[in-house]
Amino acid sequence: MACGLCHALSYSDAYASPRTRERARRASTQFIILHTTEGEAKPSLRKLSKNGEAHYCVDRDGKVYRIVERSRVAYHCGVSMWRGRRNLDDVSIGIEVVGYHDRALTSRQYVALRELVLTLQKIYGIKDANVMPHAQVAYGTPNRWHPRSHRGRKRCGMGYAVPAVRRLLGLEERWLVDPDVRAKRLVVGDVYLSQVLYAKNGEQLLPYKVPRSTAAAAERVVASAGPRTYVIKKGQTAWDVARDAYNAPSTTYVFPDGRRLPGDKVRDWEGLVVGTKVILGDADAAGSPVQTLAKGSHPRRLIGEAVFAPDTWYIRPTGGSVQGSRLTERSLAAMPPGTKILVGYAKGGPVTSRRLPAQICPTQWDAPDTFYLIPGQPLRPSGEIDMRRVPPGTVVFYRN
Ligand SMILES: [Zn+2]
Repeated sequence: MACGLCHALSYSDAYASPRTRERARRASTQFIILHTTEGEAKPSLRKLSKNGEAHYCVDRDGKVYRIVERSRVAYHCGVSMWRGRRNLDDVSIGIEVVGYHDRALTSRQYVALRELVLTLQKIYGIKDANVMPHAQVAYGTPNRWHPRSHRGRKRCGMGYAVPAVRRLLGLEERWLVDPDVRAKRLVVGDVYLSQVLYAKNGEQLLPYKVPRSTAAAAERVVASAGPRTYVIKKGQTAWDVARDAYNAPSTTYVFPDGRRLPGDKVRDWEGLVVGTKVILGDADAAGSPVQTLAKGSHPRRLIGEAVFAPDTWYIRPTGGSVQGSRLTERSLAAMPPGTKILVGYAKGGPVTSRRLPAQICPTQWDAPDTFYLIPGQPLRPSGEIDMRRVPPGTVVFYRN
């Protein structure tokens, strides 16, 4: 569908590690350590799998390879320390991302990594600050250049410590100082790295730019679970915020002086001021998986041969849903304008007092691309639903 960035995680076990069964189970999980493979996908995946050196690896297209089973120890940190605790492999999950410490990731990687990290944070109760790059926790023992144990053995994944990148990953808090250097357990062995990790302007010190469009794309995924109002920030354009819906009549611009204009009436796109609110109209506006049938149009023009698929759903403007496979050519052609169409969806429910959305679709009930049809109301994305009060009779559409 239109929005290639909005899919849920896609996993593969093609490189599941044969080492998993010989590894101990972790007694506790306190950190998520992020790496860059410093090599291309195939050779990296083969090595990670063979040696059991990560729990996950995120490829350039966002696909997530499961390597070592996540409850067991993977060897990804090497010589490592944080707040005096050594060997972080025993208390951490390791995620490799195909790429290099001095280059940006792809948009899909940022989005997939964000989803994966968030999922693991929920499972293990890990706070944002403890999602850290390998470079931040690795250290070197004394050698000919460094008479003392020192931070800076690696620059692996260093960009993940930078606020602009962390925002893409949905992470807020970060460490502002190196606790092991402060406690004199280690000395700084790489001044540049320590600036990247702890400076306010770490983004400017990176040898690459964090692409703004990537930022907007990732932020939209983040925001799609919550309110659909965005504020234009410094350096952002209307397109960064609203994408293809920037000039749609259903998109409303509210200027700082209170003036409101629909997207199709705005003329001065370059002059949009910081602080202007952008309210995306309906679910269609932001590249959502919902299509709306226009007057005089035929569903086939919108979704092609998926018109009769069992995982295509038609939601009539008057309420009620019909499965594609139940339609005939005639009933298809008679779909009224305003009908919403979902492709690639399963229908769950109805919600009852004993069967709540989380029981109907345990992994997707609050996904941004899950939709709710409450009796007598239009189809709404999960982010607009008050989950404490979902009326009985509501049905849930989630990605198949
Ligand atoms: Zn690493």
